[in-house]
Amino acid sequence: MQRVTLKDKTFVPYISSDKISASVYQMAQKINSDLLNDMPLFLVVLNGSFMFASDLLKEINIPCELSFIKLASYHGTTSTGVVTEMIGLTEEIKGRTVVIVEDIVDTGVTLEKLVTLLTKKEVKQIKVATFLLKPDAYKKDIKVDYVGMEIPNDFVVGYGLDYDGLGRNMKEVFVLDSK
Ligand code: 5GP
Repeated sequence: MQRVTLKDKTFVPYISSDKISASVYQMAQKINSDLLNDMPLFLVVLNGSFMFASDLLKEINIPCELSFIKLASYHGTTSTGVVTEMIGLTEEIKGRTVVIVEDIVDTGVTLEKLVTLLTKKEVKQIKVATFLLKPDAYKKDIKVDYVGMEIPNDFVVGYGLDYDGLGRNMKEVFVLDSK
């Protein structure tokens, strides 16, 4: 793998396609056995999760459904300021097992907002599947049930993740060059 430059930053190879495939496969096997009888709804959080979700779902062989959502933030008139809204969900999810499919969990702020929104919809249970987790940055109590790989607190791109809109299409993960 070569170094890549995206706008003003250079990134170096970090996680190879083979390693990605192996970890995604392992995660899928675990989900297949854990949720065999739950008919889960996989809720893919766009944009960053599209590539991970595609690979993961190809290895899921239990009955399941799939839906795509986006989180939109805007400054509302509440005292807390930023309001987060979930858009794109059309399925009835009351009483369902929902698997949140995330690209990366960093501080966990995004995940926490999503879990709060889903909990209001009276789901049966929420499971969280993320391709990457930064344990040193993660500050929340929500259990992350399925983790592809844990990484240090570095900025990564590729495999769905972007830097300023670029790099999502790369099939490997690259990390910001510290030099
Ligand atoms: P959190 O709310 O957990 O702090 O952050 C989650 C979101 O921040 C991710 O969905 C992603 O959009 C972005 N993010 C966090 N870390 C990285 C990273 O290393 N690379 C990229 N490209 N995005 C990141």
